[in-house]
Amino acid sequence: MTATIIDGRAIGMAIRAELRDDVRAYTQQCALPPGLVIVRVGGDAASGIYSKAILRIADDIGVKARLEQLPALTSPDELRSLLLHLNTDKQVNGIIVQMPLPAHLSQKMVADTLAMEKDIDGICPRSAGNLFLGLPSFLPSTAAAVMEILERTQTPLAGKRLVILGRSNVVGKPLAMMLLQKNATVTVCHSRTPNLATFTREADVLIAAVGRATMVHADMVHSGAIVIDVGINALPEGGITGDVDVPSVREVASAVTPTPGGVGPLTNVLLLKQCVEAAWQQIGGRVQSETASHSH
Ligand code: NAP
Repeated sequence: MTATIIDGRAIGMAIRAELRDDVRAYTQQCALPPGLVIVRVGGDAASGIYSKAILRIADDIGVKARLEQLPALTSPDELRSLLLHLNTDKQVNGIIVQMPLPAHLSQKMVADTLAMEKDIDGICPRSAGNLFLGLPSFLPSTAAAVMEILERTQTPLAGKRLVILGRSNVVGKPLAMMLLQKNATVTVCHSRTPNLATFTREADVLIAAVGRATMVHADMVHSGAIVIDVGINALPEGGITGDVDVPSVREVASAVTPTPGGVGPLTNVLLLKQCVEAAWQQIGGRVQSETASHSH
């Protein structure tokens, strides 16, 4: 078997096209585009690259986005008052605070301060609690990107065996909750899981979110499985690779995401999707068209 390579860039482009229409409709209705603010403290290089990528997508789909760049020595009170101000600014529908923060600033303070209705990357305890309870909430964007891939490739989930490698708060744990809601049987593995392959070989869908280059080989995958690779690992010679050894896994799996070009390009698109959704929610939801309301 030679697996299909799932094209994350193409899925991202399709979502962007849908978002452009949605943003146009919102902007017509409100005479104002959805607004996004990225807060960045200090000069972490990776977060600078992420911020630029998010601003580019926002510009492409018509969301009005800006970067609030704060000096590395910003005090906890200064950061908190900026967030409180953004929470009440009606032109701001979504807020992202770039991590990592400088050591003297606490991620918990940020998560506790952000208004839940503007928390488009699902970092607040209340957002996580709602996800846990199966209530509507914004989702951590990488986990949301994985779900979007599974949905758009029409991967069956109900009754299937899903194995997730990694239990972080931003990927593994939220994914487990989302997949349970889709009636999958979910196993979460981590660094203390012995004999990893005995679990991974049982998976109808295997999701790798560890951060160890090409650790998943063909002998860890059962024939016909779908393999989603979240990992991003820098190569010594430059460039990146995922957690999955795609050339070998391709011979046994039925579909696999590449790195680059799989989950990565979707994460920021999903962040923007949740920002647009936040904007609609803040004005009380979309107005149903005549046709839409009669079709149900
Ligand atoms: P993380 O917080 O470092 O978590 C890694 C997880 O992998 C932990 O649960 C850890 O277990 C587990 N792990 C480590 N070694 C293992 C092993 N040998 N076998 C099984 N599990 C093992 O990382 P993260 O933030 O979730 O990110 C995971 C990967 O996804 C990274 O490569 C990151 O760069 C990438 N990522 C990609 C995107 C994207 O946009 N595509 C976004 C975010 C992250 P313990 O809990 O026991 O330590």
